[in-house]
Amino acid sequence: MKTVVLERNEIYTGSLILVNAEYPLRSTPTDLAPAVTGFADISMERCAVEQLQLILDEIGAGNMIVPVSGYRSKAEQTAIYENSLKQNGPDFTQKYVALPDHSEHQTGLAIDLALNTDNIDFIRPDFPYSGICEEFRKAAPEFGFIERYPAGKENITGIAHEPWHFRYVGFPHSMIIAEKEFTLEEYTEYIKSFRQECPLSYSHKGIAAEIFYAPAETEISVNNAVCQVSGNNTDGFVVTLWGYKNA
Ligand SMILES: [Zn+2]
Repeated sequence: MKTVVLERNEIYTGSLILVNAEYPLRSTPTDLAPAVTGFADISMERCAVEQLQLILDEIGAGNMIVPVSGYRSKAEQTAIYENSLKQNGPDFTQKYVALPDHSEHQTGLAIDLALNTDNIDFIRPDFPYSGICEEFRKAAPEFGFIERYPAGKENITGIAHEPWHFRYVGFPHSMIIAEKEFTLEEYTEYIKSFRQECPLSYSHKGIAAEIFYAPAETEISVNNAVCQVSGNNTDGFVVTLWGYKNA
């Protein structure tokens, strides 16, 4: 039997890290790549880029959807925050712009997208619930992406409704989040009720996975399953074991 030790200093990395007003980012992206071909200045973690391209191909987006903002350094996030304070005032800024180190854009796992038009707003791009944008939104969970700041969940996310902001969390977590209409905050809590002895089973198109939470400094046994581990950036890990057959 193979065992994996989950060390505390690893809880701040992985595709499921929760970054919000309460939990600052404590790691830096390691493998950034241009998010979309032709937009060299807008980058994301490579694992997310590959899946983003698959969504755009799947829906035949062509040049109808364009990236507006991907990875931001702390300095860039600080400048955006301060500019918005000056231009839009504190109320608007608090709703739409996260404080430095509390922005998902610093993770390299988030992207703002826009319908390709002549006038694209940098902070609030147009990404409607119709046409090609809605096709993107519907296809996204199958490729690991979620709409991160939905309407009606502002009191949980701390961020206003942002139809344009997508976050890579990885499959199948994205599917469960979409099916249950969770935010990442809610999913992070939900998973804590599943432990290795009693995991969450999920299957989709013949692929089965078991998902569970493990606190920091624990040891898990993984047998021969393919094991993926992500920190949750709060207190532990989300473990995904692939290859379990449905009973
Ligand atoms: Zn955004």
